[in-house]
Amino acid sequence: MVEAAGSGDGADLSTLAVTLGRGEHLPGDPVNVPVVLSSTFRGGGRFSYGREGNPGWEAFEEVVGGLEGGAAVVFPSGLAAVRAVLELVPVGGNVVAANGAYSGTRRLLADLEQRGRLSTRLVDVTDTSTVVGAADGADVLWVESPTNPMMEVADLHALRAATARLYVVDNTFATPLLQRPLSIGADVVVHSATKLLSGHSDVVLGVAVARDESLASELRQVRSEHGAIPGPMEVFLALRGIRTLAVRFERASATAAILVERLRGHPAVEGVLYPGFGTMLSILVRGGGPGADRLCASVQLAVNATSLGGVETLVERRAQYHWDAVAGVPANLVRVSVGLEHPDDVWRDLARALDEVAVAAGVR
Ligand code: PLP
Repeated sequence: MVEAAGSGDGADLSTLAVTLGRGEHLPGDPVNVPVVLSSTFRGGGRFSYGREGNPGWEAFEEVVGGLEGGAAVVFPSGLAAVRAVLELVPVGGNVVAANGAYSGTRRLLADLEQRGRLSTRLVDVTDTSTVVGAADGADVLWVESPTNPMMEVADLHALRAATARLYVVDNTFATPLLQRPLSIGADVVVHSATKLLSGHSDVVLGVAVARDESLASELRQVRSEHGAIPGPMEVFLALRGIRTLAVRFERASATAAILVERLRGHPAVEGVLYPGFGTMLSILVRGGGPGADRLCASVQLAVNATSLGGVETLVERRAQYHWDAVAGVPANLVRVSVGLEHPDDVWRDLARALDEVAVAAGVR
């Protein structure tokens, strides 16, 4: 039972994912928050212009804010949420970031550095004392845990000792069901809500959750000024998806643990990167990059596609991307996002594809 701090009634997070963000329940009211397709609202009320707010945003923000224990601000993508948080860095400021952070985040940081907007130092998030030292006096400490796709785990609690002005955690992989960084000293949590929060690979969305209302209002201001806002339909889909987050997460996590056990015994597998929890794992495949490509091409139930956190199992060789290769992601690493299919069916599919890899590598 993972209780939400400040939720008052002591309800489990799985319950809050269902109950929050529904507004008042008066007889005859819809149970779900309706999709409001209106760019403007009659003056004098809670909503004014569509770029500033919408009932659907508010509902989704209430759910994510309740789960993470902070004030949530929804963005049109995870990267838009990342970008908005980095806007809080003063011009010429410095960011200390995980060298295993999501490739898009590192590409953005490199680009901002090249333009002279800020400077970045990349660190190994598993080396707590080095991170704390590097972040001394920094504007932002940017941590991801587990990292994508190397599955490194940071000691989020110990990193609160860092004196960076803002301590930010990308919680996309773990979700608030496993860790709630704001409750252990982080200032902001970001999510690619495209992934587990929405859960059906049908929407691109992001969210930042601030420790307090004043930080959240800074992020809302950035969102309004940048002008890139989430569409009401996308937020509706994300809100529908997050209602089932706990059951999806539980099922996919259980399947991931089963797969890790079985994968470790297969001759075409050199190693499995798995933090010991969650729905993501990476396979180090025998036969280098070609072996990994063969695995991705041979699966039939799993889909060879980017992204993660949906109902379907996805596989992808990550080092094909420049920003993963430069971070040292091995050529033979295949990231697996475990879906909701029966574990035996996913295993049969992977095992058959791995058998082909084993034959090609001469180990079977
Ligand atoms: N953070 C992590 C850990 C991610 O995996 C991703 C996308 O894959 C992002 C942020 C960016 O999110 P989006 O693709 O929704 O812009």
